Amino acid sequence: AREIHLVARPEGPPVPGDFALVERELPDPGQGELLVRNLVISVDPYMRGKMAGRRTYTDPYELNAPMDGGSVGVVEASGDPAFPVGTTVLHGRGWRSHALLPAGSARPVNIRGDVPAGIYLGALGMPGQTAYIGLVDKAGLREGDTVFVSGAAGAVGGMAGQLARMYGAKRVIGSAGSPEKVAHLIDDLGFDAAFDYKAAPVREQLAEAAPDGIDVYFDNVGGDHLEAAIECANDFARFALCGSISGYNATEAPKAPRNLFQIVTKRLTLRGFIVGDDPERMGDFYRDVAPAVAEGRITLRETVVDGLENAPEAFISMLSGGNIGKMVVRVSD
Ligand code: NDP
Repeated sequence: AREIHLVARPEGPPVPGDFALVERELPDPGQGELLVRNLVISVDPYMRGKMAGRRTYTDPYELNAPMDGGSVGVVEASGDPAFPVGTTVLHGRGWRSHALLPAGSARPVNIRGDVPAGIYLGALGMPGQTAYIGLVDKAGLREGDTVFVSGAAGAVGGMAGQLARMYGAKRVIGSAGSPEKVAHLIDDLGFDAAFDYKAAPVREQLAEAAPDGIDVYFDNVGGDHLEAAIECANDFARFALCGSISGYNATEAPKAPRNLFQIVTKRLTLRGFIVGDDPERMGDFYRDVAPAVAEGRITLRETVVDGLENAPEAFISMLSGGNIGKMVVRVSD
């Protein structure tokens, strides 16, 4: 198997030298194990946190060992009759060409028609679940809400905006980091308004896009975006705090938000959450969202990088906005 190992812990933005491509022989699967050939692997922002040497909400990656992450692959040799050779599975040993894993940690998935395997790493996978839980459970989205989503052209944000629309938001506003992404939000994903946060201060652009204020904020970015959302929030607005990617590579504490007292005066609710905390909601997610995806009511977009050896670059590029929709790496056909 070919594996990507973490060989150095980044200070600031990760660089290619933090990773190494390592070849090693895998044994045949024992009883209860599967040997899986990976088709696609996921690169996600949370992995940046695991590259640092301290525990956040999960353990850090070990140095000089393969990194983990979501992957969809095909069973090539099986030690479990429930997973015959040829079964397509979702599992957690990405960042490698082949994975040996306990069958109990794999979940069979159904790839039909021309649906890309990566859908289980994106719209119908962890990012889609994150958008659903954040918007429905944590922000308590209601019909008629004005919703602001940051990081809106990414895997989670694109789903959050589309789900807000599907569940009856009155106005959906998104921010992203380029004119091309802004056009994608409006033309492809059905956002009512969108802006390029690099073009002018978020505070000004959000106020213009939301003249009547916002009721819900789905925060993927933190920092000045969060400050602007607090500034623009209506009384009793609800914030789902999903991520804070503007700070993941930072070596100093952020300068914003400086207006936290408005949480009091406006009686805001800000709720942080981690998608894995609500496993009992996954059935509801598939029930509600899979049909919308199958019927084309939700638009899928992914950015595909070819070749396991390019996974570190795909990851680095994703962290600085090189993706529209879910960033995945195609490892084999
Ligand atoms: P994305 O597909 O959105 O990719 C990351 C994007 O972040 C980039 O494309 C880039 O887009 C944007 N970005 C990078 N730097 C900045 C910056 N300084 N300011 C604003 N935007 C920036 O990733 P995901 O959809 O997978 O994740 C989105 C967020 O959701 C992350 O914060 C992640 O940590 C969080 N998350 C949280 C989970 C939870 O359980 N709480 C689960 C999954 C994800 P652009 O060009 O627009 O800058």
